[in-house]
Amino acid sequence: MENLKEILGDCRLNHVAIATKSLSQTKGFYESLGLNFSKNEEIVESQNVKTAFASIDEFAHLELLESTSEEGPIARFIEKKGEGLHHLCFEVKNLEGKIEELKLKGVRFLTDKSFIGANNCRVIFIHPKSAFGVLVELSESEKESL
Ligand code: ZN
Repeated sequence: MENLKEILGDCRLNHVAIATKSLSQTKGFYESLGLNFSKNEEIVESQNVKTAFASIDEFAHLELLESTSEEGPIARFIEKKGEGLHHLCFEVKNLEGKIEELKLKGVRFLTDKSFIGANNCRVIFIHPKSAFGVLVELSESEKESL
């Protein structure tokens, strides 16, 4: 593992997010695989969503998303595509700088500006059309972790 620092880039996986109709049932499945979820489920009002996190390794988490309203983005996602993989989240060093850099390359975002998401992280979502069909979230890494 001594060369890990050299092979890692300036971007690392923060979480894989799964849209579900039932947080508790999905949690049960992943718990049976051996993951431990943090006790607190968090409601992100701005997204009409309830989330639960489990650590996968030192850095990466599994995030489960259940809609708190029939109109929320997760409810609409499940209606269109069914339950399943919703997005990947990558941590970058300088979020605002990365957004500017990507905008210059023509990358489209779901919102014009970054905002505060789950766990009080500043985040933004890249439009799936700019990311080969995958909804990609970018978050700002904690200074000491990169
Ligand atoms: Zn996320």
